[in-house]
Amino acid sequence: MDEETLRERARTVLQNGKLPGRTPDRTWGGPGVGAPCTICELPVRSTEMEFEIQFARDGGTPQAGLDKYHVHIRCFAAWEFERPAA
Ligand SMILES: [Zn+2]
Repeated sequence: MDEETLRERARTVLQNGKLPGRTPDRTWGGPGVGAPCTICELPVRSTEMEFEIQFARDGGTPQAGLDKYHVHIRCFAAWEFERPAA
């Protein structure tokens, strides 16, 4: 998947609210666990690196619950590029 396509997908998930457009409350990097990437919808394989990004619900404390998303490193970069500056 080329860079332009990834950016387009990043814009789409921002527009339809599948992924928030703000700075994550927590970001974990590591090898993939086979979970589908929120942005490109392809699984992040164990041979690839992913970010698990977490957002506190309703801007509350982490105890109130976290929304978690798995994304490829390069999908994350495209999303960072496309999301509005905080
Ligand atoms: Zn991806």
